[in-house]
Amino acid sequence: MSDRIDTSRPTLESIERPWWQDKPCPPWCEGGHDAAEHPEDRTHFGPLIEQTLSLCEEASDRWIDQDGAPCVYPPTLSGYLRQGWREGEAAIELSVNDRPGLCMTLAEAARLQATLDEMLRAASKSSSS
Ligand SMILES: [Zn+2]
Repeated sequence: MSDRIDTSRPTLESIERPWWQDKPCPPWCEGGHDAAEHPEDRTHFGPLIEQTLSLCEEASDRWIDQDGAPCVYPPTLSGYLRQGWREGEAAIELSVNDRPGLCMTLAEAARLQATLDEMLRAASKSSSS
């Protein structure tokens, strides 16, 4: 065993990761972690996707602005990937207007995707006939 001190320079990747992060972020993570994050907050997050839900008749977000004008927005479905720093797999979170929503495993999301694909195929057949 060598008693020499390792004088090699750390890689840029190791410099940018906080001390608690023993592995690099998943490729979809937007990063931004820091050493002061509480263990419960040490989570990788993917980009937020948003989709306006145009068929909802009731606007679910409304208020009066500072000039007294009513502001009404249609509901927005949002979703993102997340994975706790010690979790082995990502999960997908979906919510409407940032209210607590659905959290699903990747397998559950794949089954939902297959079901939606099936519905879209059925709908396209009925609309083309
Ligand atoms: Zn990350």
